[in-house]
Amino acid sequence: MKKETRFCINPECGEPFDTTNPKKFNCNISCKNRGAYLRSLIDFRLERSMYKAFIKNIRIVKDLFERGFKKVTCETLNMMGFDDNLGIIPEKDKFGRSYFIYGKIALLLVSPEEYELYLINQK
Ligand SMILES: [Zn+2]
Repeated sequence: MKKETRFCINPECGEPFDTTNPKKFNCNISCKNRGAYLRSLIDFRLERSMYKAFIKNIRIVKDLFERGFKKVTCETLNMMGFDDNLGIIPEKDKFGRSYFIYGKIALLLVSPEEYELYLINQK
């Protein structure tokens, strides 16, 4: 195969390297991983921020449950930094009431402004 000189596509590197492999775009494995990570930060920015917010919501709900809360208002959740704009689709219980699952805890909507917290039954 013909050897050619390319420039590493990791935006933090850009160094020239020689290769015979047509699929090689980085000078070494560290640059390949770093470049993929940097691209993922751009490509999945929204997903990453939604994931972080969802994990934070799980922590908040778990904390409330462990402190003995049986019910919580939307206002309290919001004051604690709970993000209710994640577009989580609710499940329905047998009475047709909406509930949202956060880790092992469910938030059951009992009024427009209040949730009941309960532990999801484990198998
Ligand atoms: Zn490089």
